[in-house]
Amino acid sequence: MDTNNQCMLHIGILSSPGIGHIIPALVLGNRLAAVHNVKVTVFVITTANSPTERQLLESSRLNIVQIPPVDISALLDANTKPVTQLCLLVRAALPGVRSALWATNQCRRLDALVGDFFCTEALPVADELNVPKFIYVPTNAWFTALTVYCPVLDKEIVGQYVEQEKGLEIPGCKPVRPEDVVDPMLDRNDEQYREYLRVGGGFSMADGILMNIWEDVDPVSLKALRENETLSKLVGRSPVYAIGPLTRNIEERDGDGMIMQWLDKQPRESVLYVSFGSGGTLSAEQITELAWGLELSEQRFIWVVRPPSKRGPDDAFFTTGQGADGTPNYLPEGFNTRTQKQGLVVPMWTEQALILKHPSTGGFLSHCGWNSTLESIKNGVPIIAWPLYSEQRQNASLLTEELGVAIRPKKLPTKGIVGREEVKTLVKTMLQSNEGKEMRERVVKLRMSAEKAISIGGSSYNSMCELLNTIEKRRSEI
Ligand code: UDP
Repeated sequence: MDTNNQCMLHIGILSSPGIGHIIPALVLGNRLAAVHNVKVTVFVITTANSPTERQLLESSRLNIVQIPPVDISALLDANTKPVTQLCLLVRAALPGVRSALWATNQCRRLDALVGDFFCTEALPVADELNVPKFIYVPTNAWFTALTVYCPVLDKEIVGQYVEQEKGLEIPGCKPVRPEDVVDPMLDRNDEQYREYLRVGGGFSMADGILMNIWEDVDPVSLKALRENETLSKLVGRSPVYAIGPLTRNIEERDGDGMIMQWLDKQPRESVLYVSFGSGGTLSAEQITELAWGLELSEQRFIWVVRPPSKRGPDDAFFTTGQGADGTPNYLPEGFNTRTQKQGLVVPMWTEQALILKHPSTGGFLSHCGWNSTLESIKNGVPIIAWPLYSEQRQNASLLTEELGVAIRPKKLPTKGIVGREEVKTLVKTMLQSNEGKEMRERVVKLRMSAEKAISIGGSSYNSMCELLNTIEKRRSEI
């Protein structure tokens, strides 16, 4: 399929605030620009930017338009949940989004608008501009199916979802375990549940849904979204494009030299990388148990640590002091000294993609955010699934039960403390056992299927071409 005829397309991508949303928008933009020769403008609804967010935007080679932050503090109280905050931010930013899109469109006509999951309310601006509009779900089809079907579940199910005895049935898909539902479904009385229902209801207005998967990774739900009578109706019978896995392309020079040098000295596939995404945090007690578990496993590790959370797993962080050997005081005393030959403790942030790419990395203890999941699969690294928030519990079930590339603690980490002995067993299973070896073999197979899907002529490459052909056709009709 030739993409040269599409070289003049101009696509706007609209990102909601937060690193976890900006990264997928930039990754999609990079793919469109670099592989499909499309001009891309990424519109980012900003908050009072975090330095990492600012750095991400500044280092991008794409054309970025920042929508100025809007003060929504008057609309928030101590109980306002993340999804409500996000939706309020996007809603308050709509006038800014509209003027930015119009202004850009005047300089160079846009041919399509792709909004992320939380930006569906902004999609009607595409109608004003007379261009097609798409929703980009930077995660998988099973989660998308749950989202679009939730308004139906809302009518059918009485009481809280988490209290149901049976899995939640979604037509054509594997049922979702009640405890695995996405955060806003945990409490049907909370405002963020109503916001989530609204997001799900908005899918039918899109001209197509893009997802960061490929045909082999989530085939059952993908088929259901495309072919099941009920589900396909809920997505407005629009095409569903599996265009992934799209992940960040980090240059070696951006990595932390000290970490890379340390990894260079370790045996192949011997290091467990431990990280909970851009903002995941653990309780003080869980940090202690994890630290002891890592130490007792006697396996090598790199751990991106954050101070303990005060409220919940997606809480903001607070700063604390450190002991004489540099051990932060929320880790067991003397941890740094005792583990200095065994592992590295990295505060707050590191270039994850480079660590996962390194041949010494043999496992990833991850919160199962979808970007992290894809980065792990693309590098053939099996996962210890430690879901914390958002749709991560569902991702963890997909990885362990459907794809067989992950193991997980017996109980959900959000439902209680995972003790040091269990952590130790999980780590040793991952790095030292046949089970770990088999998982690695499965994830390597999946990596190969991912590589095939995004290479020229592969299913995801072709799917993107199909999308661009649709946009091109629509442009020629105007
Ligand atoms: N990330 C990173 N360094 C860190 C933590 C996270 O580079 O120390 C990147 C990671 O590579 C991924 C993204 O941040 O691309 C996290 O996205 P994910 O969907 O996994 O989780 P979220 O942050 O949205 O919960």
